[in-house]
Amino acid sequence: MDVIDRIEAAATRHGDGAAHVYRGDSLSYSRLWAAATTLSLRIAGELADDGTPVVVYGHKESAMLVAFLGTVRAGHPYIPIDVSWPADRIASVVAESRTSLMVAIRPLPDGVVHDGVLVLDGSRLAEGAVPPGPMGDPHPVRGDDPYYVIYTSGSTGRPKGVQITQSALGSFVDWATSLAREAEMPTGEVAGSVWLNQAPFSFDLSVMDVYCALTTGATLHSVDAATVANARVLHCELGGSGVSVWVSTPSFADLCLADPGFTGDLLPRLGLFLFCGETLSSTTAAALRARFPEASIVNTYGPTESTVAVTSVTIGPEHLRGSALPVGRPKPGTTILIRDESGVSVPASHQGEIVIAGDTVSIGYLHRPDLTEAAFTQVDVNGEPTPAYRTGDLGHLDQTGMLHFDGRLDGQIKLHGYRIEVEDVETNLRRVSGVQQAAVVAIRREGAVTHLHGFVQLSHVPEGSSLAAAAALKRELRAYVPEYMVPKLLTVLDRIPMTANGKVDRHALLAGSR
Ligand code: AMP
Repeated sequence: MDVIDRIEAAATRHGDGAAHVYRGDSLSYSRLWAAATTLSLRIAGELADDGTPVVVYGHKESAMLVAFLGTVRAGHPYIPIDVSWPADRIASVVAESRTSLMVAIRPLPDGVVHDGVLVLDGSRLAEGAVPPGPMGDPHPVRGDDPYYVIYTSGSTGRPKGVQITQSALGSFVDWATSLAREAEMPTGEVAGSVWLNQAPFSFDLSVMDVYCALTTGATLHSVDAATVANARVLHCELGGSGVSVWVSTPSFADLCLADPGFTGDLLPRLGLFLFCGETLSSTTAAALRARFPEASIVNTYGPTESTVAVTSVTIGPEHLRGSALPVGRPKPGTTILIRDESGVSVPASHQGEIVIAGDTVSIGYLHRPDLTEAAFTQVDVNGEPTPAYRTGDLGHLDQTGMLHFDGRLDGQIKLHGYRIEVEDVETNLRRVSGVQQAAVVAIRREGAVTHLHGFVQLSHVPEGSSLAAAAALKRELRAYVPEYMVPKLLTVLDRIPMTANGKVDRHALLAGSR
């Protein structure tokens, strides 16, 4: 059954049940479905049946879910954009995606819309209100049609849009809900389970909680950025949530663990932690086992380019003895290959690039055949040519077929779960006035990135103190990249050190950063 049909079936079965809870307000399945229906008619009245993407802008409001479902029911993939993005980055996605319709749940910042793009005010969508205008005859996204496009950091300084099809999403959701069932969570047919939504909708981790909840008649409980920023408010919010399935990055769990009250008493229904997006340390897993002895902890691994996650492992006491936790075994429909530099598969226990082949691999980057060709390929799986993605991750399969993540082959890092190409930050730093040369290094503790340190060479001697100069540079950088990409430390150097080969000497910069 297609994803949208599963949601319709859940909405029929659990009409009065809560589909979404946000800031104390709850949106029932019947209202969600009715509002999405109205919006799909309105979108079909505005757009040709050509599958062009629709940008949806906002944060955690229930109207975001109405907009996602309304868009796919009208036959168009959606591009989720979070309010934390600066105008410049939104404008670049609007231009690159060639969208002609945006649904603004929150008011758009100035300067992001150009001629030919219509903006629908979506602020009252959850109440079923769409702005007046033509209505049409919607044909939903089906089969291998693109379902959503999520933009991730790109090394050129411009984000790239990963297109995920309806069938890829369906395969992922089948597997992810089965993980919850295996952990004896009552997600199958019961409306009573509650999935935590912490990741912004523009981060593909959120696809896990959104679609596992909505296709099974469960409740999605969103916590927003303001709640996360205040430990006391977050404690109260979690305590009242009834969350039974936890989906987040390990970084968010670490943040919660800083609160001594974050225990099974606060979340008595919690039966499963599902992690993805960055390394889960054995310290974090051990602390969670101690505080939530009844809950299973599952580590999953995967990139946006292969629909959220493709491997999983339940972390048991046997894993906690080693320092690095495994990332799991592939889901049905996925094959993991480890390949050397010449593209040849290496034997078990040997390190190489992780290549993911199977039914959740993206069809490529939107309107970027160059980037698509560089990262996507086809491999032979049991005699069948199968779509595959070269992750740029370094890893190995052990003798039992378990995958281990061993780092990156390039400058991509994860900071508090956010995927960042270091070159993306550098390119945008070079756009800041007066910056001649820029380099950024990731500072790590126990293997995990704790912050970014940027170094700049300026075309003029800065006025005032170097601290004031760095603060001014950061202020301008915020116009180009989201806050999480702004280096915590920024140092003005007379010259960026170079190696004998004329490359930025990152070792020297790292040494200088200590
Ligand atoms: P994203 O596309 O934002 O989900 O980021 C994907 C990247 O995050 C992967 O290519 C890995 O580098 C990293 N990643 C995802 N899951 C894990 C995990 N369980 N352990 C370590 N790194 C991970």
